[in-house]
Amino acid sequence: MKYHFIVDLDSPDVFRQMQEQKAFAGLYFDGIDEGEAILLTTESRRIRELPKRHARDAAAAVVEDDAPETVLNALQPLICQEDLYLFSGEEQNAALAVRLGARTGGSSANNIHAVLPGSGQRLKVKRMMYANHMEALCDPGKPPFFFTMAKGMDPAELTDEPFFIWKETCTASAGDHICLETCRPREADSGLKDSQVVVAGGRGVGGRQGMEILGSLAEALGGSVGASRPVVMNAWAPMEALLGVSGTLIQPKICIAAGVSGAAAFGAGVEKSGWISAVNKDPAAPIMKMADVAVVEDYEPFVKALEALVRAEE
Ligand SMILES: Cc1cc2nc3c(=O)[nH]c(=O)nc-3n(C[C@H](O)[C@H](O)[C@H](O)COP(=O)(O)OP(=O)(O)OC[C@H]3O[C@@H](n4cnc5c(N)ncnc54)[C@H](O)[C@@H]3O)c2cc1C
Repeated sequence: MKYHFIVDLDSPDVFRQMQEQKAFAGLYFDGIDEGEAILLTTESRRIRELPKRHARDAAAAVVEDDAPETVLNALQPLICQEDLYLFSGEEQNAALAVRLGARTGGSSANNIHAVLPGSGQRLKVKRMMYANHMEALCDPGKPPFFFTMAKGMDPAELTDEPFFIWKETCTASAGDHICLETCRPREADSGLKDSQVVVAGGRGVGGRQGMEILGSLAEALGGSVGASRPVVMNAWAPMEALLGVSGTLIQPKICIAAGVSGAAAFGAGVEKSGWISAVNKDPAAPIMKMADVAVVEDYEPFVKALEALVRAEE
């Protein structure tokens, strides 16, 4: 097995990324041979102008555009099935690593902060999970491996010499299959973390319409909407609304939980609320034990009646 760095030369931050990759290799790739780096760029002049390096040899891939499909088409022919490929921790690299893993029949892991030997050709990696609450030791699978690093590694010195380029390929744009591109603005910050009132919905609300009913109550109360994992996985609410160990841990003055069972992973997200009101058809649901007020009822008439009361007060 050899390790290879994958470097995005178009990134304004390329030297920091190379320094972090070098430091990572120094710590964790002991006993693994160094392979050539892969330098990606949309402008071949950048390869010639690069004055510093962290690996001796490199293959240069000049791509017509930086669309993920074009980049993947450039990278895939350069992959060796036994080897390990390390990306920097930039956000866009996570998707590239996962897609390369799938395309080559290998494995991927993102935001790793350590690599350890596994059995045979396997490796183990460490990464933080559940909003940095837990460190996981994972066996990503079989090679080739595609890893992205967690950001924040102490940088290492680069060598003051250019790469020796042993191969240069050019890849045309793969964008012909795209018929329409729509730019979707980023979801606005959900405001959950700072909200004094959160109305949280669970699978029991039954769908998007149910979440709209909760949204209307949250609006009347000047609060925000949160959601359990099944709700966001079903796209009844945006991912930003997720409460719990995998999402946001909140501490509002009031949390109203509707149609939520109160599983431990969710409960950890709301347990610091000043006051919890829960409405659930099942009196034995765990959320009922956490709640200051537990209402055994269908959530819909309860939430609508509560909203009518709040609006009548306005
Ligand atoms: C590693 C791991 C991490 C996880 N992280 C999270 C996390 O961060 N956040 C999270 O939420 N989950 C997380 N989960 C999932 C979690 O374990 C639960 O499966 C999830 O919280 C259950 O969501 P729920 O309460 O909406 O659904 P359910 O457990 O299906 O509960 C639905 C509830 O709605 C009630 N109900 C049904 N109809 C009505 C009605 N008409 N009116 C009132 N009540 C009704 C039911 O009685 C039931 O109690 C994680 C799981 C794992 C394994």
